[in-house]
Order: sequence, then C-alpha cells, then structure tokens
Amino acid sequence: MARLRSLTGLLLAAIAVFVIGCSAPAAKVTTYTPEQLGLIETYASSVSGLRERMPELETYIDQQDWVDVQYFIHGPLGELRIRMDRLARQLLPGSQDQAKTLAKELYRHLVKIDEAAADRDTPLASSQYYEALKDFDAYLDLLPATDL
Ligand code: ZN
Repeated sequence: MARLRSLTGLLLAAIAVFVIGCSAPAAKVTTYTPEQLGLIETYASSVSGLRERMPELETYIDQQDWVDVQYFIHGPLGELRIRMDRLARQLLPGSQDQAKTLAKELYRHLVKIDEAAADRDTPLASSQYYEALKDFDAYLDLLPATDL
C-alpha cells in the first residue's frame, strides 16, 4: 500500500511538471533571446545609420535648399518607415506598439516637411524637423542595449 501511494505521488508530480511545462510558453515574455537581440542589432544599425544622417536634412532646410530637402526625404529617408516597422516587430510586446506609433509619427513629420518644402515654408519645415528628431530619438530609446 505504501508503495502504491508513492507511485501515485510520483505520477502526480509528473503531471504537475507536464502542466507547468505546457503553460510556460503562454507566460508573458519579458526578455529577449540572443537570437532576437542579434536580429535587433542588425535592423537597428540600418535605422541608426539614417538617424546619423538627419543633420543633412537640417542643413538643407537652413539653406532653403528645397530641392535637396525633398530629394533627401524621398531618397535616403524613403526607406525609413519600412526599416523602423521591421525593427519594431522584433521588440517585446510592451515596446512594440510604442515603437510603431513613434515610427508613424515620425513619418507624419517627414510628410509635413515635404509639404513645407513645396510651399517654401522655412519655419514649418524647421519645427517639423525638430519634432521628427524627438520621435526618432524616443524610438531609439525603446531598443534594448546590444553589444554593438
Ligand atoms: Zn511627433
């Protein structure tokens, strides 16, 4: 009888391990795997490469060089939205929505700069440029630290 009871105990323990094991993946993900971090690092470098080029846009606005303002937005920055969305999809659920919102916001400011360039509206282009930078930096702040 004692032997049977201990077998039942073992069986229950085995079921408990099985149940816990199955429910684990449904638990909230709060950390990145090394694979995710590697992917984030790759995508992040293509996004921060464009962040480093943003001052070029400021120079064109300051010089009222509207042709180059529009060229820069449609050329080098043309892929920014796609790159930011691709990177955002790799982030943890908590940061992901925020990153997508900031990417959308940033894109909205770039559209406004493009319109301001068409209207040769320097004050609007400048203010939208600084708004764009704020959203860009807030987006980058959401990224996890990687061993870049
Ligand atoms: Zn904004």
